Amino acid sequence: MGTSFSSNEAFHLPQFPKRILIQGGGYIALEFATIFNGLGAEVTVVYRGDNILRGFDDEVRAHLRMELEKRGIRILTKQVVARVEKFGHELRVALSEHEDIAADQVMFATGRKPNIEHIGLEAAGVALGKTGGIAVNEFSQTSVPNIYAVGDVTNRVNLTPVAIREGHAFADSVFGGKPTPVNHADVPTAVFSEPEVGVVGMTEAEACRALAKVDIYKSTFRPLKATLAGRDTRTFMKLVVDGHTDRVVGCHIVGPEAGEMIQLIGVAVKMKATKADFDATMAVHPTAAEELVTMREKSATHVRQAAE
Ligand SMILES: Cc1cc2nc3c(=O)[nH]c(=O)nc-3n(C[C@H](O)[C@H](O)[C@H](O)COP(=O)(O)OP(=O)(O)OC[C@H]3O[C@@H](n4cnc5c(N)ncnc54)[C@H](O)[C@@H]3O)c2cc1C
Repeated sequence: MGTSFSSNEAFHLPQFPKRILIQGGGYIALEFATIFNGLGAEVTVVYRGDNILRGFDDEVRAHLRMELEKRGIRILTKQVVARVEKFGHELRVALSEHEDIAADQVMFATGRKPNIEHIGLEAAGVALGKTGGIAVNEFSQTSVPNIYAVGDVTNRVNLTPVAIREGHAFADSVFGGKPTPVNHADVPTAVFSEPEVGVVGMTEAEACRALAKVDIYKSTFRPLKATLAGRDTRTFMKLVVDGHTDRVVGCHIVGPEAGEMIQLIGVAVKMKATKADFDATMAVHPTAAEELVTMREKSATHVRQAAE
């Protein structure tokens, strides 16, 4: 054994790696880290940034990291794989911070980019966007009016349902006589790690940048099932609320079924539900989700100071 691979090959390994090092801190790296950890491998995650899950709410990142570490996943941040050498059947991985780690396999999950070279975009005059994808407007139309692009190749929100929706909207607009823009705001999304993460809307930091007043409600608790099973795992939930309009602008969950919960919270957020709407909704007891409608105490209020 002993080669490096990406998520393309992860389910086709000839042999199960007892020790695996994964470079990357995004959702794919973490999903595979928890799969290999759950199957009994010794897992080390190496990530160049300050903390895993860049772009997610900072407390979600901290909570998930703590939960992954509790499950025995080693997480090394602010460093990268400098070199991989093969010694007999094992790999020696030299990290940029001078540590050497022995592993059976090394996985790279450091991100993907649109495959747009050598397909004649330049010759056709199709412009690229700032994020390296094909630039399109809200109808997925490129700079050349009769050329459209949908999905990851546009590097907008790289998720399957978003690509499908963009394709559907394109067909409606161009062939169905029904101009249909795609709104990429408030896309609910999940990380299928163990525990799961489900998020929709703004992080606390994004809300503080965008809004004059932000109220934060949050809760950390042991889910009932974990209590009964005697497992030391905690669920985290946070609501980010616009302090002036009372609208819930963000919801962040780490815990069992977070993906299922965020799909439904996504409807409420898309409908611009307020914190008062959440509070007026009766709890379903005993569930973890009931916490989302019973958070009464603000944990923080951020008020943006007027510029001097
Ligand atoms: C490991 C992994 C896990 C993921 N998990 C999730 C998830 O849980 N939920 C979710 O919503 N999204 C997930 N995604 C993202 C999701 O897969 C993408 O957003 C989605 O597939 C985008 O669809 P697409 O049609 O734009 O691109 P793709 O599905 O990538 O399809 C592009 C197709 O074009 C082909 N192609 C590429 N270049 C050329 C070329 N030059 N000429 C001809 N054909 C070409 C490719 O072979 C491919 O078949 C995951 C992605 C990865 C890598």
